[in-house]
Amino acid sequence: MELAPKEVFPGDLFLLKIKIDRSSPDSPDSPNAEFAGKMIDFYQDAADHFIALVPVDIDTSPKKYNIKVKSGKNEKIAHIRVKPYKFPTKKITLPEEQVVLSAGDLERSKREAELLESILSRNTERVWNRSFIKPTDTALSEMFGVKRIMNEKHNSVHRGVDYKGRTGTPVKAVNSGTVALKEDLFFGGNTVVIDHGMGLFSIYMHLSEFHVSAGETVSKGQLIGLVGMTGRASGPHLHFGIKLQGVNVNPESLFKLEL
Ligand SMILES: [Zn+2]
Repeated sequence: MELAPKEVFPGDLFLLKIKIDRSSPDSPDSPNAEFAGKMIDFYQDAADHFIALVPVDIDTSPKKYNIKVKSGKNEKIAHIRVKPYKFPTKKITLPEEQVVLSAGDLERSKREAELLESILSRNTERVWNRSFIKPTDTALSEMFGVKRIMNEKHNSVHRGVDYKGRTGTPVKAVNSGTVALKEDLFFGGNTVVIDHGMGLFSIYMHLSEFHVSAGETVSKGQLIGLVGMTGRASGPHLHFGIKLQGVNVNPESLFKLEL
């Protein structure tokens, strides 16, 4: 049994890998395990392993967790340490009319949040293939988990990362999947959501141009759009998010994994 990495921060994801026991006369059954009250979803890879990507919610208490893994008659315990991390807080002052939405905008943003939620809660067959790549080669301008306090009262948590980039910088699919959404959203502007299967989604916002259509199958590295500043953005950048089984996770923890 292999756990990578063995220590994580809240908001990261980790990899759990179990070798299939070929000495057992039974055909291999998918292992059974649970983390933070949620069942872990395994898939079988070509090299006779069961693999799971496990999300650690940003609100998870820092401590050592035991994961009991049952595979056929075998039972093993894996240990994962969630380390404490103090996410930075940023105070932002904006004209009040940019913070308080009109009734129409509020209605629209609520409707779009529900649409996103319904897409991001799907669980389809796995399409991703091996490791994930970054959507652009540019540096980050804003980290995951930053708490923003706008005009001293409106709090929000940055549930993705921001990549620097001039308008027109190419944006690539981080792995293979299907375009689950291609819409102009109030906050996200031109937004693409790719469904990679098994409840894993990548989200790309503020694009200046779309280069895919809804329902299209995309492959890893394919151009899906261009960086822009559509929607609520103060300048051109790519807001990028990863959602895994209903949990927003730090994309950087996914890019580090060797799959
Ligand atoms: Zn962002």
